[in-house]
Amino acid sequence: MAAPAQNLKINGDRLWDSLMEMAQIGPGIAGGNNRQTLTDDDAKGRALFQTWCGDAGCSMGLDSMGNMFAMRPGQDPDALPVYMGSHLDTQPTGGKYDGVLGVLGGLEAFRTMNDLGVKTKHPIVLVNWTNEEGTRFAPAMLASGVFAGKHTEDWAKDRVDAEGKRFGDELKRIGWEGDEPVGARKMHAMFELHIEQGPILEAEGKDIGVVTHGQGLRWIECTVTGKESHTGSTPMAMRKNAGRGLALVTELVHEIAMKHQPNAVGAIGHIDVYPNSRNIIPGKVVFTVDMRTHLLDKLNDMVAEFVTQAPRLCEAIGTEFSCEIVGQFDPPAFDEACVSAVRGASERLGYSHMDIISGAGHDACWINDVAPTAMIMCPCVDGLSHNEAEDISKEWATAGADVLMHAVLETAEIVE
Ligand SMILES: [Zn+2]
Repeated sequence: MAAPAQNLKINGDRLWDSLMEMAQIGPGIAGGNNRQTLTDDDAKGRALFQTWCGDAGCSMGLDSMGNMFAMRPGQDPDALPVYMGSHLDTQPTGGKYDGVLGVLGGLEAFRTMNDLGVKTKHPIVLVNWTNEEGTRFAPAMLASGVFAGKHTEDWAKDRVDAEGKRFGDELKRIGWEGDEPVGARKMHAMFELHIEQGPILEAEGKDIGVVTHGQGLRWIECTVTGKESHTGSTPMAMRKNAGRGLALVTELVHEIAMKHQPNAVGAIGHIDVYPNSRNIIPGKVVFTVDMRTHLLDKLNDMVAEFVTQAPRLCEAIGTEFSCEIVGQFDPPAFDEACVSAVRGASERLGYSHMDIISGAGHDACWINDVAPTAMIMCPCVDGLSHNEAEDISKEWATAGADVLMHAVLETAEIVE
């Protein structure tokens, strides 16, 4: 298939103006955004997006989870559409670019194709996935998860927010529940442009991250049991200090992650110490280990090493150790042809690039299970996201949208 010409570029100023206009809806308190899913501001953002898509000549599909699908027709009525997109919802103290860049970058690609009269064999569809962030209604990536068959729609619609409001009721209330069955669409491929949400691309001075894998994760809930006793009167040799067990296991998790570099991480995030009194040796500590890496075998090795070593360390100091896996997500490996299209587009356009692993979850990680998928990342300042101070440059946004457009056009096949 013919690659798009290297001088085919999006309009970076127009993209930036649209990002800034969308950011007016649901402003935060510190320069970012609070446009949480299924709020009135989410509805306003959706309406603006729909207007823009209509102006770009697209028809809009809407499924019963509120996922929006703007279609630019192709020349072959039998060809499956090539998808692109991300999410317009934000964290309560979110930035202006997380998710939004992937949607409005796709819109800018449509506008550019229209300006230049580009025709494609496959239709191209731009998606806004509902509730990627998962703050108001957990879990994250909820609607793309239903689309990919990870959750049932009934279960998703029964999720409630902190005020007890149901997802399904709120989706109806804001007027964005469609008729289309979720997941019925078949995709030729799907591309998601997203900010990195980490510091690597900026530190390496690269314009584009070619995302080859996502991180898989395991959450392991652990209990170390010792014996509560007086911190003053219990001799050192007679203590069963569960707090010391926690210390040893914390160090073990760090060592295991360091041993499995690159792209392996591990930490203990949540800790409950009992009875949590300053003059009692802890009798019990309950905590969760979070381990992540991008290859399934490596992830399984890390867990196996942990469940073998942790009991030994705890037993050696007179405490007991038990654990169970309470959360798991296997690492996605993105489609090789789609990943190559992203890499090829970066080269053709003259943007510096490197292969990268996505540390965060994304809609593309679910869609990867039902369609050939890839992601494009652009740098963000200091790796900051989920923070109102999240920032990117216009040049980074432009490079990301250029690569998105080229990868999509090559896959959708330009018709001469
Ligand atoms: Zn996001």
